[in-house]
Amino acid sequence: MALTGKEIQEMHQTYVMQSWSKSGAPALPIDHAEGIYFYDCDGKKYADMSSLMVNANLGHQLPEIVKAIKEQADKMCFMAPAYATEPKSRLAKLLVEVAGADHYQRVFFTNGGAESNENAIKMARMFTGRTKIFSCYRSYHGATLGASNASGDWRRFAAEIGGANGFVKFMNPHMYQDGYTRGKDDAICTKKAIDALDLQLRYEGPEHVAAIIMESIVGANGVILPPEGYMEGVQALCRKYGILLICDEVMAGFARTGKMFAWQNFDIQPDIITCAKGITCGYVPLGACIVSKEIAAFFEEHVLQCGLTYSGHTLACAAGVASVQYYLDHDICTHVMEMEQVLKPFLEKMVEKHKCVGEARCIGLFAALEIVKDKENRVPMQEYGEHGPVMPAIMAELKKRGFSTFGRENNVNVCPPLIITKAELEEYLPILDEVLTWVDETYC
Ligand code: PLP
Repeated sequence: MALTGKEIQEMHQTYVMQSWSKSGAPALPIDHAEGIYFYDCDGKKYADMSSLMVNANLGHQLPEIVKAIKEQADKMCFMAPAYATEPKSRLAKLLVEVAGADHYQRVFFTNGGAESNENAIKMARMFTGRTKIFSCYRSYHGATLGASNASGDWRRFAAEIGGANGFVKFMNPHMYQDGYTRGKDDAICTKKAIDALDLQLRYEGPEHVAAIIMESIVGANGVILPPEGYMEGVQALCRKYGILLICDEVMAGFARTGKMFAWQNFDIQPDIITCAKGITCGYVPLGACIVSKEIAAFFEEHVLQCGLTYSGHTLACAAGVASVQYYLDHDICTHVMEMEQVLKPFLEKMVEKHKCVGEARCIGLFAALEIVKDKENRVPMQEYGEHGPVMPAIMAELKKRGFSTFGRENNVNVCPPLIITKAELEEYLPILDEVLTWVDETYC
């Protein structure tokens, strides 16, 4: 007999360890999901304005993905990594083509984002024979040991107990928080950041640095759009010192920014692309490292000391083929750019209208509002590292009204499924406006 919502919640509360939280708090029991919506066990409907963890890029229960999973499940759920299977071969080829077959050659499959970064770091160390990994403070790369040590936000601290060696952090620019004006100060902001990184690399000894790993566009830490020229500047330093550039596309990839990969918004060419989330939209967990021809050739001569029981999981790859094919067949990138024309002006209006909104950042359907308590002096609603009650209260107010999203530090993220329609955006965005009015009145 099926459990009631209350039973599901109580059992979760008693037996489940909750990510990034103290255990034992009640979690909302969810029953089903479809399109841009999910429904709790009391039948209440929520518009999924964050694509859950910015992974449900094609929304929920997309028939094409569900069908591919069902058909594959009927035939063969899993085959070991040593064997070739149709979904794995197809997906590897598709990913190389989407990334650019002139530069990329092979794919190593994982089970998610952290594992993709973990393995990319290992590959970079093997390929270069160097140890150090540079990464940004304003970043998140996953929760396994290496990926955590590469991450910059507070979620790395537990992994730093005992730690992993060779991880070096640098401060990536955040134009708004650093006091710059986008569109006016980009050159100076970029120059300052690149000069500082160059100096830091020289102090660390660039000949010891295997890779710089960066989110192409920082996601969970607030959809931080780099100043113009910054990513190109980082790439130039990599080239100058023989350092690999790993672009973490776990959150920003798969049409989120209107390009299949977010790095394609810049004039750069990463050596390794790591991805997960939107590769299957979460229907089955999957991640991947897409490597350049040069790295692929290296591992034709050297043993790849990376391996996972579920590398290239058959069911997951079937979901991956269906997802990637859907992005391409339905030209989701073009749709995203059309929807950006609805979302971006709305968010900019929120900046003009609300005392609590300092800045809106939006590229494609990847957006965040910077919530401030003193707009004139750009004072964030919560300082970095302050885990106060305000942001959770904002999230709760939104959720109460059927608008589900997440926010961290002082950002409210708006990253709906990429299949969202103009009518759906126009129906739900006014809820955000209403809650921001409440924030103005309550906290500013
Ligand atoms: N990299 C980025 C940019 C992410 O946003 C995340 C998760 O949010 C990860 C890596 C880790 O992915 P996973 O949770 O699938 O291990």
